[in-house]
Amino acid sequence: MNISHVYSSNPVDRGEKERRDDQWIADKAKDPTSKFLPLKDLNVLVNKGDQDGLGWVGAADLERLGVDASPFFLGSLGGSAHFVIDISAQEKAVSELSEENGFRFVDARSVTEILSGPDSGIVAQARAQINWHNRNGFCAICGGETYVKRGGQVRKCSKCEVENYPRTDPVIIVVVSDGDRCLLGQSRRGRLNRTNTYSALAGFVDQGESIEEAVAREVMEEAGIQVGQVRYHSSQPWPFPSSLMIGCHADAATTEINFDNDEMNDVRWFSRDEVALALEGKNDTLAVPQPIAIAHHLITAWVKGD
Ligand SMILES: [Zn+2]
Repeated sequence: MNISHVYSSNPVDRGEKERRDDQWIADKAKDPTSKFLPLKDLNVLVNKGDQDGLGWVGAADLERLGVDASPFFLGSLGGSAHFVIDISAQEKAVSELSEENGFRFVDARSVTEILSGPDSGIVAQARAQINWHNRNGFCAICGGETYVKRGGQVRKCSKCEVENYPRTDPVIIVVVSDGDRCLLGQSRRGRLNRTNTYSALAGFVDQGESIEEAVAREVMEEAGIQVGQVRYHSSQPWPFPSSLMIGCHADAATTEINFDNDEMNDVRWFSRDEVALALEGKNDTLAVPQPIAIAHHLITAWVKGD
């Protein structure tokens, strides 16, 4: 299955070898050929105009704008080093990277509507990375201050010297089917609450749990349905803040729904025809997630029998 999900297809070479060379990173952070992607409050800088694209700036721009912040290395692309830099606290830069000057900051969800797939992959990496650095200034073991190593891939504790690595949180997302129908639900937490949008069931993989076990547990918790065989479909980075969505299909072993009122607003079986109409936007009583989400593609694959 070869689906290029939004937030995947990141073309950057993350450069494991270069990262380990502190001097190389320091030199590239000042190199005129290097490119820097500013983020403000986790929103991404884009060029405004006919050709919307990521708002890469140069080292000279950062200097002119008086930016005093550490860039983090994303990787290499087209022969130049690419970095992300958080300019939330840099007033001059924020005021000058404005609409008047051809820029704007866009949240990482809406930005995917104007970017190419590969650029959305860069956004996923950049947003997750800045968010992780913002939350990990202190060591989880001893409370000491941490500092950046390997261009941003590690934060090392200045006291106990433990190395902290960025987390990625696995989430299973599954379309369960009994053959002719599929099981979709509305989470109470989600943005779909109290609309006619239904989505695939999803939840975080617990510690010491396999993907198959997480699917079986989540479907039982959310819908009271037992599942049989679980099949992997595809995965999607989801930088809110740093999940990896693991898309699956599963066979239902039982059909009587008994959903958890605290967690779910509703869970139902839908026929293939109902879901097919919803995918075309022609079903008044059922909507399904947009193509930005892996759920859309899992549902589409089920309808087509893929
Ligand atoms: Zn420590």
